[in-house]
Amino acid sequence: MLLKNRNNLTNTLVFRLTVWFVLLFTFLLSGAFWVSYKILMANLLTRIDTSLNVEVREIEEEFYDKGIDQIQEEIDLEMVEEGIGRVFVRLLSMDGKTVITSDLSSWGYLDLRQLDRYIESAVPGIPVYHSVGSETSEEKCRIISKIIDDGKYALQFGMTLKDNQVLADKYKRIFVYAFLFMLVSGGVLGWFISRQAMAGIRKITDTALRIGNDGFKHRVETRDEREEVKQLAVAFNNMLDRIEDLIREISDVTDNLAHDLRTPITRIRGFAETTLNGEQNLEIYKEGYHIVVEECDRLVKLINTMLEIKQSDAGIKDFQTTRLDLVELVGKGYEIFLPLAEDKKIDFGFHRPPSPVYIQGDEAKLQRVVSNLLDNAIKFTDPHGKILISVIQENEEGRISIKDTGIGMPDDQIGRIFEKFYRIDSSRSTTGNGLGLSWVKSIVTSMGWSIQVTSSPGKGSEFVIKIPLEMPNV
Ligand code: ADP
Repeated sequence: MLLKNRNNLTNTLVFRLTVWFVLLFTFLLSGAFWVSYKILMANLLTRIDTSLNVEVREIEEEFYDKGIDQIQEEIDLEMVEEGIGRVFVRLLSMDGKTVITSDLSSWGYLDLRQLDRYIESAVPGIPVYHSVGSETSEEKCRIISKIIDDGKYALQFGMTLKDNQVLADKYKRIFVYAFLFMLVSGGVLGWFISRQAMAGIRKITDTALRIGNDGFKHRVETRDEREEVKQLAVAFNNMLDRIEDLIREISDVTDNLAHDLRTPITRIRGFAETTLNGEQNLEIYKEGYHIVVEECDRLVKLINTMLEIKQSDAGIKDFQTTRLDLVELVGKGYEIFLPLAEDKKIDFGFHRPPSPVYIQGDEAKLQRVVSNLLDNAIKFTDPHGKILISVIQENEEGRISIKDTGIGMPDDQIGRIFEKFYRIDSSRSTTGNGLGLSWVKSIVTSMGWSIQVTSSPGKGSEFVIKIPLEMPNV
């Protein structure tokens, strides 16, 4: 369990971000220290070289001014001032003999043969510098070697680097403390920043978990989150809205489908029962089978319509597209529905333009679209009402408008009439299954056209289909 928790922790983004943060911090800090340490050490060495050069020049001047015998005094003075463990001086003739030397007893780690080699590699008048270290201790010194007096003598002056080392040690110690402090505070800061950054994600996760437990009503609340998290939360909430709509739609469709299947099946069963129990009469049988055929047709029509809607929603375009004249096509629909409208004493008119309006489309499908709309208009318009069909050509668009003075629809339901099985309460007493407009919408959309509705309860409705005109070949 403990191991599992630890695994979970190391797998979190917060943990990984913190680790990366600390690693980056360590890398940058070490880099910065290394560079500044190198610069500091180089500067100190340059300063030491400058003072070595000054010392050598002073002895050299003394040498030229007062002669070789007098410089011993100068060297002794130098030793008293600096201390025999801090500096040393050697004056050698070019055949390798030591002419003058300070007390070298504190410089046990110096290899005199190596010092002689430094002289051999020097060019007269130009000083050369070397750093020499001890193999047994941490001690180090800096040596300047210079050939003077036109190549007759070599002067060597050495200075301990103890001060430098003390400074370097102090610098390293300060760095270690600062490093540890910054590492810990960097880790804490990294942890804190990562947690803050992930807070929005945690909120989304919490919401998702709550949804799993108690329904779809929860949404992620955004307040002062950063833009990226806000966008994610908004996208997540939108997705939940869509899923909720979809679930509601599936539930409605299932309810309606169950209801629509139950009615014909109940009628068929009723007939079968009557036949089984009732008297054996051919007329009754005929009437019963008539009911069976009628209800089966209704069921097949319902199933076919559902399949067609599903097909065109899935982007399967089973269209026979040809050149059509909207005026002629809508005119045919008008002729077919005229007797029905007359039966219901509806004033049924067709406003046709003087010339044809050509479009590209599937004749049978468009005919069915118009029939569905006309069927609804007649169904939902009371006797003595009016229905006007118009074909209009405007700019590069052909329009079919079907306007009635029927029962109309409330504003808040207009948006839903294209959903599968949706029927407004006030129209439930009429025949139908609520699939007609859903089918119309899916066909019109997959043809690349559009359909709009305006309606007002008690005053009537207008459905307008907009279709791009067929462009003449240029
Ligand atoms: P159905 O006509 O079988 O009920 P539709 O899908 O064709 O199904 O229509 C869905 C609903 O839209 C109808 O039940 C009705 O409430 C509303 N509706 C459609 N056309 C009209 C109209 N012309 N006037 C008023 N309501 C309409």
